[in-house]
Amino acid sequence: MPHFAHGDLIAVQTTQPLDRTLDYRAPEGGCATGDFVEVPLGPRKVLGVVWGPGEGGYDLAKVRAAYRVLDVPPMREEMQVFLARAAEYTLTPMPAMLRLATRVPGLGQDVSLRRVYTRGAADPDRMTDARTRVLAVLDEYQGLSFTLSELAEMAGVTTSVVKGLVKQGAVYEREAPRDTPYPRLDPDLPGKPLAKDQGQAAQAMVQAVQSGDYGTTMLRGVTGSGKTEVYLEAVAACLAKGRQALVLLPEIALTAEFLHRVEVRFGARPAEWHHGVTQTERRRCWKMVATGGAQLVVGARSSLFLPFRDLGLVVVDEEHDTSYKQEDGVLYSARDMAVLRASICSAQVVLASATPSLETWANVEAGKYNALTLTSRFGDRAMPKMDAIDMRDEELPGGRWVSPSLQAQMQDRLDKGEQSLLFLNRRGYAPVTICRACGEMVACPHCDARMVEHRFLKRLICHQCGETKPVPPECPSCKVEGKMAAVGPGVERMAEEAAALFPDARVEVLSSDMYASSRALQARIEAIAAGAADIVVGTQLVAKGHNFPLLTLVGVIDADLGLQGSDLRAAERTFQLMRQVAGRAGRADKPGAAVLQTFQPEHPVIKAILSGDEEGFWKAEAEQRRAAGVPPYGRMAGIVLSSPDVQAVFDLGNRLARADAPLRRIGADLYGPAPAPIARIRGRHRVRLLIKAEKSAPLQAAVTEWLASVRWKGDIRLSVDIDPQSFY
Ligand code: ADP
Ligand code: ZN
Repeated sequence: MPHFAHGDLIAVQTTQPLDRTLDYRAPEGGCATGDFVEVPLGPRKVLGVVWGPGEGGYDLAKVRAAYRVLDVPPMREEMQVFLARAAEYTLTPMPAMLRLATRVPGLGQDVSLRRVYTRGAADPDRMTDARTRVLAVLDEYQGLSFTLSELAEMAGVTTSVVKGLVKQGAVYEREAPRDTPYPRLDPDLPGKPLAKDQGQAAQAMVQAVQSGDYGTTMLRGVTGSGKTEVYLEAVAACLAKGRQALVLLPEIALTAEFLHRVEVRFGARPAEWHHGVTQTERRRCWKMVATGGAQLVVGARSSLFLPFRDLGLVVVDEEHDTSYKQEDGVLYSARDMAVLRASICSAQVVLASATPSLETWANVEAGKYNALTLTSRFGDRAMPKMDAIDMRDEELPGGRWVSPSLQAQMQDRLDKGEQSLLFLNRRGYAPVTICRACGEMVACPHCDARMVEHRFLKRLICHQCGETKPVPPECPSCKVEGKMAAVGPGVERMAEEAAALFPDARVEVLSSDMYASSRALQARIEAIAAGAADIVVGTQLVAKGHNFPLLTLVGVIDADLGLQGSDLRAAERTFQLMRQVAGRAGRADKPGAAVLQTFQPEHPVIKAILSGDEEGFWKAEAEQRRAAGVPPYGRMAGIVLSSPDVQAVFDLGNRLARADAPLRRIGADLYGPAPAPIARIRGRHRVRLLIKAEKSAPLQAAVTEWLASVRWKGDIRLSVDIDPQSFY
């Protein structure tokens, strides 16, 4: 690490939106590459990291000095490399990247520091009895620091005596972190005895972790096949080697159950990192990850940017889950960034899923990733039996969605005291509110989106921008009263229907918007798992890994829902979601069943879901994508321009389209500009361009050159999404 003496020129990367590092002079005491520093920028103090030596080449007299080095562990070189490469890949400016790595409360302001007191170098001008006692305590406990009240109490003096000594330099006052290491996890505690295929998979992973090299492994196995038990063995091997491990989960509500499993396996709880933990805990986690006081972190995608001292293993559980793609701010895929990060720090990656993404399959096929498969459910529990209910044959009155066939099966479960799940991936009461007099639909004033009625909250909500308003008693357009009607089903409405069909059943809705906090949601999930409901109505939230041992029937209200729309991953998503939801049934000793209500039982995707022929499905899907040259067999980038001014945004789109020479040079095709599928969000008109290139094409370089060739003024935002997952 180059060390810079006081006054040396240093380059500092700040979190401010600037397209380069800034030069400063090293502060008093000097600094080193990687140090977190506070520097002046105009009239402000901002946070930065010493990135290397200053570049010079300008008026050196104007270079200002950095204020100070922050009392936090410096950024490791490997993190600098990771951020730089992630920035390059995602075409994200470095300051935004650095913000991801410094999203920790109090890094700059030292807010949650406490003042501690140690023996200073100077002697007091005059000794008093009280002062002598203070210094005696400090001499006796040399090397330990005290808070003000602790020290005063031990010396039997008032705090003003201590403060007097501080002024004289006889006692040294400084800020020290409150944060304490996490309890040690014991990797030597025995795990569960593993089944044969589990044991083989675990052994392969343990060996990979022990090698100390980089590698990525897809761990595939149906829900309940014991993947978690297997990768916990890899975690154990990693901890035993003295390295740190990270487990990414797609949903905060899953952490409680997982923390518990870790505690059972390793004797203590790991560190947690997601937006549901307190500021103080986040800070503690960040620091302890950096100093080695945290061996294992369980977290959301942003935990990839924690300052691990020695990361040896990253597990991405439910790796296919779309929530791993960050959809605003910095657009990155946590799965891909996990692989990048691991390759830089010689760590292993485990991508676990019952239904891996096609990207991961393709990487296995290409020999880049290893593959391990668990073939059966643990203890030979059968996968649920899957059937379609052909909705064309069912008699259903308007405004009702539970077919008589499904109803009969639910009744059967009720009679046996077992649980049923009605799955519908639509929050709220009804997706559309329409005036029966004039046909007007209630739309969001800021977005090109309908407002969704949430009866539980007694409001209409825009799922794009969050705008809410009460359900109007009269039509906003024709002013006729009492004609506003809900059209189509949402989970709340399904719950109403279930309650009407089964008046004695306990019906419960599980949807993220119905709980004030993730803790409340977790608590409710645990209660339901323990039997607090007979019928659960849920969104995709319930598809993600929760254990409901009493659940033996899953009814998918609308299996066709995800197949509409033009998303290139529509088939993949539907397949994954349906298999995942079905996997909720029959986890304990009772066999489960899953039924799909569909109007197109002969659709190839529906047939693949029902037959469970996963390999067949992926092969067919892969062939189609290969033929179309789309991901994972081709590359894409999405560009969204947005502005309050619709003309300006189309003009820029057209200018970009005309300037496509750098894209053509790499053989890429440019589509658009076209109105984005959601053409207006928060009052901004949205226009999209789509780039398609061959897999080996240098896409980022070409896009950078292309965008740099066009300038614009005014309030137009441009976002680049490399490997887009959604096309809204
Ligand atoms: P997955 O992660 O594949 O969904 P889990 O690891 O959660 O599967 O395992 C499903 C259930 O089976 C869990 O309740 C788990 O505790 C149990 N289980 C898995 N493997 C074993 C084992 N070897 N011995 C005992 N119980 C196991
Ligand atoms: Zn809106």
